[in-house]
Amino acid sequence: MNEQSLDTRLNEIQMALKQKGYRLTSSRQKIVQALLDCGGHITADGLLEVIHQTDITVGRMTVYRTLELLSELGLIRPVYQGTGAAHYILLDGGHHHHLICSGCDAVFEFDECSLQEVGQLLAERFNFAVEGHLVEFYGRCQNCQ
Ligand SMILES: [Zn+2]
Ligand SMILES: [Zn+2]
Ligand SMILES: [Zn+2]
Repeated sequence: MNEQSLDTRLNEIQMALKQKGYRLTSSRQKIVQALLDCGGHITADGLLEVIHQTDITVGRMTVYRTLELLSELGLIRPVYQGTGAAHYILLDGGHHHHLICSGCDAVFEFDECSLQEVGQLLAERFNFAVEGHLVEFYGRCQNCQ
């Protein structure tokens, strides 16, 4: 992500917090900034490690609580794989997409999305208020075919 879209994302998250009556405290700002900088796909402890490289005043509980809060607000989402700790991914505009290679476990991100329509259909059919989606396609990458 380039500088500008990082700033825009930070702004969006700040606005979303504000709307729900939360302040972007300096600790929260550092956590969000670190999360955006690394592009997500990181565990809470991994993120804490990154933050502690520049600032050791941010506590572990603050990181955990902030990630929980951001998840509740639908800005990020925890992904659980096996028994390991959750990885947090950024829900840019409420959605996130992966291609995952079952041969080498490579993960490819893609932005093109034609799933909003499917979401609409499901929303109507199940009377379900859809807030976002995380889509993972499994298969084999070029090298593993
Ligand atoms: Zn592969
Ligand atoms: Zn991703
Ligand atoms: Zn999508």
